[in-house]
Amino acid sequence: MIINVDSDGVVYDLVSLTQELARREYGADFPKPTSWGFENWHITWDQVFALWGIPGVFEHGQPEPWAIDGIKDLLNNDHTVRIVTNKHGLPDPAQAMQETIEFYSFWDLLDDVDIVFSGSYAKEYEADVIIDDKPTLEWAQDGKINLLYNQPWNRDAYNLSVIRVHGWSAVGTAIAVLT
Ligand SMILES: [Mg+2]
Repeated sequence: MIINVDSDGVVYDLVSLTQELARREYGADFPKPTSWGFENWHITWDQVFALWGIPGVFEHGQPEPWAIDGIKDLLNNDHTVRIVTNKHGLPDPAQAMQETIEFYSFWDLLDDVDIVFSGSYAKEYEADVIIDDKPTLEWAQDGKINLLYNQPWNRDAYNLSVIRVHGWSAVGTAIAVLT
C-alpha cells in the first residue's frame, strides 16, 4: 500500500517548537493552538510566520510521540511511505525543505521514505491511505482510507469519509484493520 503521511503535526512536532520560540521571541507563554489560525495566541499571522523563518525551526523539533517507530513499522510491513509536505508560502521555503530533509536524515529514514514537497498539489499524489492533521480535510482522497491525526487544532473537523486517529498506535491499528 502507498501511504501518504503529512509531516508537520503528524510526524514532526512543529507546534511545540513554535511555542518555545514564541516564548523566547515574544516573552509570553502560549498554549497549544486550538485552531488552525492560532487565534488563541492573539498574535498576527506575520508574527507566527516570523517564527517559521527562524533557522532550524523545521529541523530541531521533536517527532510526534511514536511517529518514528510508527513509520518504521509501516515500512517493515512492506508499505510505501511517502512524506507529503507543503513548504511553499513559508518565509524561506528552501530553508524549510532543507531542514525537513535533515530531520528525516537524523532519524535515519531518508533512504526508506519518499519525500514530496507538494506545494498545493498534494492530492495529485494518489495513495491508498492518507494521514493528515489539517482540519479543512481538503487532503482527503475519494474512495481511499483517510486518517485525520487528532490534534487540538482539528477537534471540530468532521467528515464521514475521514477516520480520526489518536496517536501513532491508532494509525498502525487503523491501517492494519482497514487494508
Ligand atoms: Mg500538517
